[in-house]
Amino acid sequence: EKFEDAGLHPVMLKNIELAGYQVPTPIQRYAIPSINQGFDLIAIAQTGSGKTAAYLIPILNQLMGKAKQLAAPRPNPAEFGQGAPRVRAEPLVLVVCPTRELAIQIFNEARKFAYRTMLRPCVLYGGCPASEQRAQIQKGCDILVATPGRLVDFMEMPNILSLRRMKFMVIDEADEMIADPGWNADISKIMGGGDGNIKYVLCSATFPKQARDLAREYLSEQHVRI
Ligand code: AMP
Repeated sequence: EKFEDAGLHPVMLKNIELAGYQVPTPIQRYAIPSINQGFDLIAIAQTGSGKTAAYLIPILNQLMGKAKQLAAPRPNPAEFGQGAPRVRAEPLVLVVCPTRELAIQIFNEARKFAYRTMLRPCVLYGGCPASEQRAQIQKGCDILVATPGRLVDFMEMPNILSLRRMKFMVIDEADEMIADPGWNADISKIMGGGDGNIKYVLCSATFPKQARDLAREYLSEQHVRI
């Protein structure tokens, strides 16, 4: 019932404390051990339930111990701005969500938990020029929060973004994304982007048939539903 009892990395416990979170919310009490044990997870959760930290804490915690080996290669900062070749972004964690506002919220939450780790969070969304976002992710990107349109745009451009190293994929507000007519075209490109050995988290406020179908198609049988 306490964060201290969840077997988390000391840096993660410190970051939780810095975030001001004293006790886990109900969904966090459920999700943190489930994800830590390697289960795929379906979380039926509303905004305000603490769902973002419920998946970010255990996912980032699992990567923390291995951050030195896993974190993206960083270009030499001395070469920034001089037309130096940039690295291709190869995130370990991808969080896909329907809106720019939500993407920024999740990104800010990811920054709290990635503090003082090698893990670098980045965010992508549409409705603004791509060049600045492109430069950001190419400085090194371990945790990518993105809306589907801009994500697929970047995936389809050569040498910007690859999902081949992805270990965790979160679909947040899945019901909202399924309701978007563009989603059907994007989904297989996004879900099929990894190397196959990926842990999934699916968050949804409601659980309509299309969300159940999505879960059935991509999540392993060992999921837990809340
Ligand atoms: P979410 O449901 O993820 O949108 O989170 C709702 C709000 O609750 C956000 O402002 C979080 O920063 C905050 N929050 C999440 N978990 C906790 C917690 N264990 N204790 C206090 N606040 C929290």
